[in-house]
Amino acid sequence: MEKSYFEELNNTIKNEYLKQMEDYAIKNGVPIIQKEGLDCLLMMVKLKDVKRVLEIGTAIGYSASCMALISDNIYVDTIERDKKMYDEALVNIKNLGLQDRINVIYADALELDINELKSDYDLIFIDAAKSQYIKFFEKYEKKLKKGGIVFSDNLLFHGLIENRTGKESRNLSQMLKKIEAFNEWLAKNEAYDTTFLRLGDGIAISIKK
Ligand code: SAM
Repeated sequence: MEKSYFEELNNTIKNEYLKQMEDYAIKNGVPIIQKEGLDCLLMMVKLKDVKRVLEIGTAIGYSASCMALISDNIYVDTIERDKKMYDEALVNIKNLGLQDRINVIYADALELDINELKSDYDLIFIDAAKSQYIKFFEKYEKKLKKGGIVFSDNLLFHGLIENRTGKESRNLSQMLKKIEAFNEWLAKNEAYDTTFLRLGDGIAISIKK
């Protein structure tokens, strides 16, 4: 895919293997984080000197690898419920030599016992089933340090949140309602200072007070 002017200037991804993962994701319809959202996520990791990350939704391990490649001090726990994705993530992470710093947990994030997670986190990246965001947030915020960040992606859901036609299928309409409910819940959540940004597919950055 052709890069935008700023994407060319940012040139974030210098690793050839990561580029291959991007191409694989495009060809195989694997939904990985969009470039703008990724640039913002990685900048957040750098600015806040993040060392411990929890990611909900690994897919092929692309965003987890991008974060881990920032510095040797960064450790990522990432949860994936789809066996095929989990297996592919393990292969990619091994090929990138990141297996000692990225721990892929094969589980449904709604069922995982949070006591299995060893550390508290500086940043939690929520990027799994969009209809469950409030549940993910409420469950895993207990593992977020004070001053830590929750980074939530896909909050505009391909622009559909702002551009309803009224002709959406019942399923899609329910999904959009759940994303809106999350956005509104997050905006009112006084335990966090949240900013919504029109980047990528729509992100929110929430800082725990
Ligand atoms: N973060 C990845 C990246 O940018 O490279 C993309 C993740 S993709 C958008 C979402 C992934 O979350 C899918 O692979 C899906 O199987 C997984 N997922 C969805 N619901 C989940 C759940 N409840 N527990 C664990 N994984 C889940």
